[in-house]
Amino acid sequence: MDVKSVGVIGAGQMGNGIAHVLALAEYDVLLNDVSQDALNSAMATIEGNMARQASRGKISDEEMQSALKRITTTMELPQLGQTDLVIEAATERETVKQAIFESLLPHLQPHTILTSNTSSISITRLASRTDRPERFMGFHFMNPVPVMQLVELIRGIATDQPTFAACKAVVDRLGKTAASAEDFPAFIVNRILMPMINEAVYTLYEGVGNVQSIDQSMKLGANHPMGPLELADFIGLDTCLAIMNVLHDGLADTKYRPCPLLTKYVEAGWLGRKTQRGFYDYRGEAPVPTR
Ligand code: NAD
Repeated sequence: MDVKSVGVIGAGQMGNGIAHVLALAEYDVLLNDVSQDALNSAMATIEGNMARQASRGKISDEEMQSALKRITTTMELPQLGQTDLVIEAATERETVKQAIFESLLPHLQPHTILTSNTSSISITRLASRTDRPERFMGFHFMNPVPVMQLVELIRGIATDQPTFAACKAVVDRLGKTAASAEDFPAFIVNRILMPMINEAVYTLYEGVGNVQSIDQSMKLGANHPMGPLELADFIGLDTCLAIMNVLHDGLADTKYRPCPLLTKYVEAGWLGRKTQRGFYDYRGEAPVPTR
C-alpha cells in the first residue's frame, strides 16, 4: 500500500515533530488537536525548527516553503478519515486515545492504517477497541523527532504483514531507521533506558555518588553523550516515573520498582527542565546539581 497522506492527532511536542518530518518527506499532512492554541504554536515551532535547518544548510528554502504548504491544521477529527495513515500522538492517557479512535472510526476509509505513538500503552489493547486490529500498530518516534534517527515499529498481536510493510516504507522515506519491537511494556528503548535511569537515581538515593559524579561517571566512563540524571531531567521525571510504573505493573517484577527518590522529586513538582528544577536547578545561568 502506498501512503500519500498522513493524519497526525495531537500537536504537542511529538505531534509537531512528526508533522515536520512527514512534510519534508513530501507527505500531505493533516494535523489535528482539540486546542487551536496548540495548533498555532505547533505551526510556529515547525516553522522555527525548519528555519534553523535551512540556516544550517540541511534543507533549502524551497524545501522548507513547500513542506510548510503540505501541512494543514484542523480541529475537525473526522477530516482525518480521508488520509491513508493516521498517527495518534495525543496526551498519554488511555481513555483519551480510546475516545479519539472511537470518534474517528466511522469516518475512516477501509484501507486507512491506524497507529499510535504511545510510549507505554498496550498496542494490542488499543487495537482491540477498533474495527481494524490487523491494520493497527505502534509507530513510536523518539524526542526530538527531527533529530532522532530511530522509530520503533510495534506489532500488536493481530497486526498483519502489509501494515508493517507500509509503515516500514514510511520510516524509510523519512530517512529514519525502523526497529521492530513486540508489544510488551515500554517496548525496546524505554525497557532498557528507564531501568538505567532508575538505577542512577538509586545510586544517588543510596549516597554512592552525587548528581555530578554519577553523570560524569557515565559520560566519561561509559561514553554516554549525556549523564543519566541530566537525561532524566530532559525527558521529564514524571514521564520516567510513569514508564517505571508501567514496567513494574506490566512485568510484575520487583527489579522495576521506581526509586523512592524519583517519586519524591515528582511529588515536589521538580520534573526536570520543563519546570526548571529536577536533578539540576536550571533557574540560573548554568545548571546547578540539587544533590
Ligand atoms: P504533549 O502534551 O506535548 O502533546 C499532547 C497534545 O495532544 C496536546 O497538544 C493536546 O492538546 C493534544 N490532545 C489531547 N487530547 C486530544 C484529543 N482528544 N484530540 C486531539 N488532540 C488532543 O505530549 P507529547 O509529549 O507530544 O506526547 C504525545 C504522545 O507521544 C504520547 O502518547 C507520548 O507517550 C508519546 N511520546 C512522547 C515522547 C516524549 O519524549 N515526550 C516520546 C515518544 C512518544
